[in-house]
Amino acid sequence: MLLFGMPVLWSEDPFARAEYFDDYVDKGARILVVSAHPDDESLAGPLLAYACLQKGNPCHIAVFTRGGGGTCGLLRGCKPDLATVRTQEMKAAARRYRASLDLAHFSDSSLKVTKYTREAIRALWEAEGDPKGWLRGVIERFQPDLLITLDPHHGFTGHVEHQLASLLVNEVLLPRAGYLPDHSISRSFTS
Ligand SMILES: [Zn+2]
Repeated sequence: MLLFGMPVLWSEDPFARAEYFDDYVDKGARILVVSAHPDDESLAGPLLAYACLQKGNPCHIAVFTRGGGGTCGLLRGCKPDLATVRTQEMKAAARRYRASLDLAHFSDSSLKVTKYTREAIRALWEAEGDPKGWLRGVIERFQPDLLITLDPHHGFTGHVEHQLASLLVNEVLLPRAGYLPDHSISRSFTS
């Protein structure tokens, strides 16, 4: 996972001395999780349960796709379709974390379709809309102090859409991208 701490420029930075995740949580950090699919947030489940539920930090989850490219694992099947079921599951999970939610509509490509490399999926998403613009809007609305996303190199599980979601976060937040000067990264943590 990657954690980005974001400096607050308009006032004294309350997180200037924050060293660990707990320090951000204790100071009331607004926490944003950015992922590719409904259920990816479960990879950070213990962090979210602690911060959003036990400590009551404001939390928001942003997901690029509705998960229609996966496989239905329910014995009763996924009616009317997998994306609808996973969207409902994602909404229920967000409620359990007491987190607000943004779900975009970018395509979730089946892992069985091997032609979908990471850059092919990026091209597909950019043909469908503006994934970085969507993410920028989420960040501007929620104003996070801490952002949690997947690792851009292996995507936690090797899934190329996980990698792409993280790369888009990096491209939007890193100063060289030229966006969101009030949300430049003060530090990043990798685990
Ligand atoms: Zn996933």
